[in-house]
Amino acid sequence: MNILVLNCGSSSIKYKLFDMPDGGELAGGLLERIGEETSLLSHRAGGRKVRVEGKVADHREGLKWVVEALLHPEHGTIGGPSEIDAVGHRVVHGGERFTGSVLITPEVLDAVREFISLAPLHNPPNLMGIEAARELLPDVPQVAVFDTAFHGTMPRYAYLYAIPYEYYENYHIRRYGFHGTSHRYVTLRAAQILGRPSEELKLITCHLGNGCSMAAVKGGRSVDTSMGFTPLEGLVMGTRSGDVDPAVIPFLARAEGMSADEVEEVLNKRSGLLGLSGVSNDMREVERASEAGDERAKVALEVFAYRVKKYIGAYVAVLGGLDALVFTAGIGENSYRMREMICEGLEVFGIALDHERNRRTVGRKEGDISREGSPVRVLVVPTDEELLIAKDTFEIVRQEG
Ligand code: AMP
Repeated sequence: MNILVLNCGSSSIKYKLFDMPDGGELAGGLLERIGEETSLLSHRAGGRKVRVEGKVADHREGLKWVVEALLHPEHGTIGGPSEIDAVGHRVVHGGERFTGSVLITPEVLDAVREFISLAPLHNPPNLMGIEAARELLPDVPQVAVFDTAFHGTMPRYAYLYAIPYEYYENYHIRRYGFHGTSHRYVTLRAAQILGRPSEELKLITCHLGNGCSMAAVKGGRSVDTSMGFTPLEGLVMGTRSGDVDPAVIPFLARAEGMSADEVEEVLNKRSGLLGLSGVSNDMREVERASEAGDERAKVALEVFAYRVKKYIGAYVAVLGGLDALVFTAGIGENSYRMREMICEGLEVFGIALDHERNRRTVGRKEGDISREGSPVRVLVVPTDEELLIAKDTFEIVRQEG
């Protein structure tokens, strides 16, 4: 069964075509700058790469480009649109309603529309992708895989904020958590690596990329996570502040004469590694600057590592122990220095690195980087959200069929 996985951003479509149930990747690519003067499609299939430039007005036209690339006589991989058996969509917010992946029906679409109020930047492009796919491939089943779903198992004492309860009731203000598909993928993979059922395991998963979040996973279920009502809470990220005292917001508004929206923009776009270092939101550049002696870059790395360390401590308490600490995403998979900084001094929790193995495990390599004999395994697991979306889509379509 050929499954097309779509991840639609406000001006981009990331896609992969999988052969399921094998999980083989037939083709993939990225269409960027939708709606701008020149859009760019980077397509890859069978070891070949193609770049196409042109003007793509919207997601509907964008998806046509994607399907044309998949059908292309030279670099295409399928003979006709009928060879796409199902489409799996990444959808950021599933509210409190969706704790798993679902076949997209008009009711599901209505719900995703309703959750725009909770994810105003993310759900609209996800919806555009779904609508475009329904139009272009009307007879093909479509499945929604939500970023929030994996965290739907958090107990209420973990997801409620201590603000007047009516705000939860009226506005659904609570912790939702994000990156759920990634946390679920590495949880499943970690259990395979450890050779134990995930039902038995206590894991802390660290998704450290441009966006960063951690999850405490007990028995295969998320029991807490660092992102909250929005993806702004928690860890230090590329441009996002993560946790701050909420009183900083009105203080800044008064001090700088900013509106609430402007302060939110500062916390989302001008903070994190970028805000602290003044160098970049990119970990590689901040690391380079720090090595060259830049003090602000150095402190940015220290704050980043310290925040992760604090959450590890908190989640060991939440889980009542720990079997494995799992690193994933761009920084988690590649920055051995950051992993070293994070794990330093955590022997008290049974966490100790094998420095040699840690240094060697970079570049989308999977591995156990913990010291021989230390009680907690430390794993690096390259994430693959698209593959998990394809798997969910395959399972749901098979059950429905
Ligand atoms: P992602 O959002 O998962 O693509 O991760 C992006 C982040 O990973 C950026 O901060 C990159 O700087 C970081 N990253 C990617 N490769 C490396 C590397 N080799 N060393 C350090 N950071 C890296």
